[in-house]
Amino acid sequence: MLKVKLLSFLVIFSSCLFVVKAQKFKQKYFERIINSLTSDYYAGRGYVDNGMSKSALYLQKEFKKNKLQSFSTDYEQKFTYPINVIQNAELKINGLELKYGIDYIVKPNAQSVSDVGLDYSFFDTTAYTESFQSKNKTRDFIVNDHQLNFEKNIILPPLENTVDSIKQYYKQWSSIYEREQNINRGIFRFTKEKLTSSLSQRQANTSEFIISDKFYSDQLKINSFMIKSEFIENFEAKNLIGYVDGKNNDSIVVITAHYDHLGKVGETVFPGASDNASGVAMMLAFAKYYSKHRPQYKTVFIAFAGEEAGLLGADYFVKNPLFELSKIKFLVNLDIMGAGEKGIQVVNGKVFKKEFDKLTAINANKNYLAEVKIRGESCNSDHCPFYLKGVPSFFIYTLGGKGFYHEPDDTRNNLNLDYSSKVFSLLRDFINTISSNDIR
Ligand SMILES: [Zn+2]
Repeated sequence: MLKVKLLSFLVIFSSCLFVVKAQKFKQKYFERIINSLTSDYYAGRGYVDNGMSKSALYLQKEFKKNKLQSFSTDYEQKFTYPINVIQNAELKINGLELKYGIDYIVKPNAQSVSDVGLDYSFFDTTAYTESFQSKNKTRDFIVNDHQLNFEKNIILPPLENTVDSIKQYYKQWSSIYEREQNINRGIFRFTKEKLTSSLSQRQANTSEFIISDKFYSDQLKINSFMIKSEFIENFEAKNLIGYVDGKNNDSIVVITAHYDHLGKVGETVFPGASDNASGVAMMLAFAKYYSKHRPQYKTVFIAFAGEEAGLLGADYFVKNPLFELSKIKFLVNLDIMGAGEKGIQVVNGKVFKKEFDKLTAINANKNYLAEVKIRGESCNSDHCPFYLKGVPSFFIYTLGGKGFYHEPDDTRNNLNLDYSSKVFSLLRDFINTISSNDIR
């Protein structure tokens, strides 16, 4: 008797435990995904050492483990695009070997260059600024500058000016030099601005270094430099798309996150922990959750490639969709999920106000996060190509944290994952509300 009672008690108790556990965010799983994707093996999920394709393989395995179904073979949607890959760079100033990504970067459209011993010429920023006074002065300055800098490496000192157009022209100055002059020439632009790496889909005929102004002085001596870049006309990438069937499959909820990042230059890896290993991990946490809790509607998970080169994966998908885009009830794009102490920001919140109000109501009710901030439309991540096709969508990113962005310090150790569980719970409640038909 006692045994029976004890047994039934145990059954009830453990099933309660199961319910509680199943509702919970899988923090360890979430962290494991981030740890993996930011490890050196994946080489910053870019264009060197097959970083992006190795990451795709890893995600395909995770999709499978979470029992996602596939529209195609192995969840793949292949596409190609042109990309200029900076494979390596070196720069030594005043006897000091500078660190890529921290002390300097290379303009993403740079062509290869090596030091052939040309003389150095200091660009005259005072004459440059004055040349804006009239068209004649501008013309004279350009002619003079070409003569001064003939067959020379060019040093562009930090510009002390606040006029936008003057600053803007200065940034693009190297593009006025002629092709045949640029083959062996290095262009060295010093700047006060934060160094933020990015990618280019074309290769220019210039080789420009962008260097922190703390290395600038008029006594400056550049000891050696080198850029090795490769233009790839048809880089092969793939989006990965999996889904879980819902109770009703006429409508679709989509959760997206891009898995590509900037890759590596020489030995410098851009691990992209916040951008966007964290978003991919959050998306996978949802894949795991909904594969165990049948959603109301078919729920699709898309890991996009090519985001950092210009939302190319999302753009390809909306032009070649695997299901009717008009079936999408709502899309939530996750990009930068590595903080949350200051809450979340919602791009398109002002556009889809009813959904935004729902989100803030849930947050207030359950006391999840410090703040749910509203923004208007912005074409700054993968939700945008969908939004432009009329798909109701939010792009959600976390606020707070150390804010490293497109730099080598965007590492796993610089994330704060203490709020991830609350972010997950808020988004889960929101997605479930979207699905429960009371919004649209
Ligand atoms: Zn991103």
